[in-house]
Amino acid sequence: MNARRRFAAGLLALPLLPRAARAGGDPFALAGSFEQGGIARGQLPPGATALRLDGQPIDSATDGRFLIAFDRDAAPVARLEAMRADGMALSETLSIAARSWNLSRLDRLPKVPVPSAEFAARRPAELARIVAARARQTGAQGWRGAFAWPATGRISTLFGSQRIYAGEPGAYHSGIDIALPTGAPVRAPADGVVILAASAPFTLEGNLLMLDHGMGLSSAFLHLSRIDVREGEAVRQGQVIGAVGATGRATGPHLHWGLMWRGARLDPLLVAGAMPAR
Ligand SMILES: [Zn+2]
Repeated sequence: MNARRRFAAGLLALPLLPRAARAGGDPFALAGSFEQGGIARGQLPPGATALRLDGQPIDSATDGRFLIAFDRDAAPVARLEAMRADGMALSETLSIAARSWNLSRLDRLPKVPVPSAEFAARRPAELARIVAARARQTGAQGWRGAFAWPATGRISTLFGSQRIYAGEPGAYHSGIDIALPTGAPVRAPADGVVILAASAPFTLEGNLLMLDHGMGLSSAFLHLSRIDVREGEAVRQGQVIGAVGATGRATGPHLHWGLMWRGARLDPLLVAGAMPAR
């Protein structure tokens, strides 16, 4: 069983052989995916404080559990540090494996459509609502447990995929797309609190639902045909929260599921594990 599968099975207490070399021992008992787009959880030793990842303060729960994650473009090395109760410094150097992304190279630049006056007028307020939603701290506890798939089906676009136009990289795909018919149920992948429920479709995302799972980890579900929950509502893992659709900028019905941790974009395949057979 590799680290990813073990993580998906929720067997977090098992000692993990590090996927990549770690220097400084393993004072934080980390388990997870040490690669770009991956997520790991750990345990702060009793009395330890001032946890930092690459110099940035990281929250930990009252029981010492914490979560860290690695952006799609994370650097090859990350440094985790804390202070022990006796004043000694604890540190661990993490090797973050690079991924090979699905890149398609196109010879010429795309014809960029001139944004409509309507788009230009509406977009700033939409972006402001997304930013405000991500800033909300709800105390949700879903970050602690294994994640489940919000829906299962054919994966039509992988996380991280990118088109290169005449050598100019376009924006990469920030989530995973699952092709499903309109109306297929979407379930909460983990416990959370609804931080955005936009049933008046956004220009790009369409009907957009966002969940906070706590500790800076959030999910976004795009293009929904229906949203079944309200902002501020607590949802349980597996609860139906909406339905697949093709609202916003979508060529056909599908679920786009995005995961973010404090600005880092994560690969749902590394967080939820291999999709179960349907
Ligand atoms: Zn997508």
